[in-house]
Amino acid sequence: MKVPLLDLKAQYQTIKDEVIAATQALYETQRFILGPEVEKLEEQIARYCHTRYAVGVSSGTDALLISLMAAGIGPGDEVITSPYTFFATVGSIVRVGATPVFVDIQEDTYNMDPEAISDKITKQTKAIIPVHLYGQCCDMEPILELARSHHIMVIEDAAQAIGAEYRNRRAGSMGDMGCFSFFPSKNLGAFGDGGMVTTSSDVLYESLKRLRVHGSSPKYYHKVVGGNFRLDALQAAILRVKLAYLEQWTSARQANARRYRALFSHEGLNDFIGLPIEKNGRHIYNQFVIAVQSRRDDLKRFLSEAGIGTEIYYPVPLHLQPCFEYLNATKGSFPMAEAAAEKTLALPIYAELTDEQQAYVVRKIKAFYSS
Ligand SMILES: *Cc1c(COP(=O)(O)O)cnc(C)c1O
Repeated sequence: MKVPLLDLKAQYQTIKDEVIAATQALYETQRFILGPEVEKLEEQIARYCHTRYAVGVSSGTDALLISLMAAGIGPGDEVITSPYTFFATVGSIVRVGATPVFVDIQEDTYNMDPEAISDKITKQTKAIIPVHLYGQCCDMEPILELARSHHIMVIEDAAQAIGAEYRNRRAGSMGDMGCFSFFPSKNLGAFGDGGMVTTSSDVLYESLKRLRVHGSSPKYYHKVVGGNFRLDALQAAILRVKLAYLEQWTSARQANARRYRALFSHEGLNDFIGLPIEKNGRHIYNQFVIAVQSRRDDLKRFLSEAGIGTEIYYPVPLHLQPCFEYLNATKGSFPMAEAAAEKTLALPIYAELTDEQQAYVVRKIKAFYSS
């Protein structure tokens, strides 16, 4: 049996006719940059995320970059975030000329620890970027409270968390801006790169729209320098087809998570494997990440030989990346993030995964620990 980490071909088979119809209709219009398809998607995403506005952009990375630009963050400013995230979160802070300031993560959710934040706030702090890792929101209430009392912005990195909720509030609607990615492996994936910024602020919305087109407003008149951060109409048309299925796919991922829990306890694996915990709301399981107490890399190899795809998100926390050496963090600076990097393993959780495939995955993990 083969169980890939993600099977986008299986998903495509269920939406193929609609995708082909939507893209063919777009070919007839020959309007490929922004335009009505992007505007319709923006309205739908804003509604889905419970915000007033959404601005389609070229990737999740560019969503972060343009948000930092819209927030006016630059050289001399500090931005607090997690060292246990995808590179783009921190890369974007550096690209606008600001300094990333890390706080450690919580052991159980892998999300930023709110209690570690206040010690890191200085006069230079301009924003906090909580990352809703794996599809579960950070503990937002204390983060929002700190931000309010210090007058600093909150930019949610919701790239992995579309539709996730914290106490009935949607990811991307709690901070000043929310950043989403439509990279194909995200829960709502395009046929290429794409992203979105959500906001309910009129000022930020206007700024984001201007920055997306080189800062021009009206066309060919520039008060600020932006970039080409535009979303393709073709991607928007495909995403509009897929958005109609997102709730259904999310429910299937949640059902798969429940099935894993039952299988793991049935096989008596709970001493070897820590399962993801659900805290404060709706987890949308972009990843189902287990904590492997020992021999994680051997287990990964064993599963790979059995035809099972897994991945380590992420093997090196960002404070230990060579390009961030100048920040002067060392091994031991963020022990929870470092421990996570040694234990985490993402298992297949995609919506089309079958009962048989899941049972096979858990059986193989059992076999590994029985040998
Ligand atoms: C995927 C991801 C991004 C970047 O998105 P791209 O669309 O790949 O540029 C940023 N942050 C996190 C946490 C991500 O998972």
